Amino acid sequence: MAIKGKSFIVTGGTRGIGRGIVEELASQGAKVAFIYASSDQLAKELVERLKADGREAVAFKADVRAFDKAEEVVRETVNRFGRLDGVVNNAGITRDKPLMMMSPPDWEEVIETNLFGAFNFTRAVIKQLIKQKDGDILNVASIAGMVGRPGQTNYAASKAGIVGFTKSLAREVGRFNIRVNAIAPGFIDTEMTQNLNEKLKEEILKEIPLGRLGEVKEVAKVAAFLLEGGRYITGQVVFVDGGLVMA
Ligand code: NAP
Repeated sequence: MAIKGKSFIVTGGTRGIGRGIVEELASQGAKVAFIYASSDQLAKELVERLKADGREAVAFKADVRAFDKAEEVVRETVNRFGRLDGVVNNAGITRDKPLMMMSPPDWEEVIETNLFGAFNFTRAVIKQLIKQKDGDILNVASIAGMVGRPGQTNYAASKAGIVGFTKSLAREVGRFNIRVNAIAPGFIDTEMTQNLNEKLKEEILKEIPLGRLGEVKEVAKVAAFLLEGGRYITGQVVFVDGGLVMA
C-alpha cells in the first residue's frame, strides 16, 4: 500500500533525520504528527511549510520519556487523522564521554530518551495496530549499537537495546501483520555529528568506503521505503552508513 493517505507519528521531527523523515512521508502524501522537545519555532515553521504545500501535519511538544504524554499524543493523532499506520521512533540524544567520566545522569538521560522513548511510543500505539491488523514500527538505531564506539557506552547500550527490542517485538506481533524494523545510520550530516571535533571527523571519513557523511534525505528515503514497500520485511536492521559497517 502506498504511503499516500496513511498516517504516521515521527518522534524528534524538528531537526536532522526526523525532520527528513517527516518531510519525505508528507511529500509522499502521508499525514504526519511529529514530536519535539523544545524547538517551538522550528516545529511551527515546519508545520506551516508543509501545510502551505498542501500536506497534513501537526506538531506535539512532548518529552518522549513520558509514557502518559505518548498515550495522549497517540489518542489525539488517531482522533485527528482517523487512523494511524505506524510510528517512527527517531528522537535520540548523545552525551558522549569516556565511561570513567560518565555521570549517572549522562547514562540515564540517554537510555531514557533513546530506549524508554521508543518503548513509550510503541507501547502507546501497539493496541491500535493490532486492532487494525496492519502497521509499522520503525526504530532509528545506530551503527554504534552494532559495533560500539569509544565514548558512547551509554548511547551504544541504548541503540543495542533498540535492536533487541526491534527483533523481539517483530517476533511477537508478526502474526498481526505488524512489521517492526530498524534503520542503523552511520555518520549522517546533522547537528549531532556537527558537534564532533574536526580531527575525529577526518578519521571517520577515512573509514567510510563511500568517503563522505550521509545526507538526511538518504536515510529518509530508506525509512519511506520500509514503511511503504517493505511489506515482507520485519525484524531487520537496515544499515545506511556508506559501507562503514558490513555485518
Ligand atoms: P538531532 O538533529 O539532534 O535531532 C534530535 C531530534 O530529537 C530533535 O527533533 C529533538 O527535538 C528531538 N528530541 C530530543 N530529545 C527529545 C525528547 N526527550 N523528547 C522529544 N523529542 C526529543 O538528531 P539526529 O542526528 O537527527 O538523530 C536522530 C536519530 O538518529 C537519533 O535517534 C540518533 O541517535 C540517530 N542517529 C543519528 C546519526 C547521525 O549521524 N546523526 C547516526 C546514527 C543514529 P528538539 O528540536 O525540540 O530538541
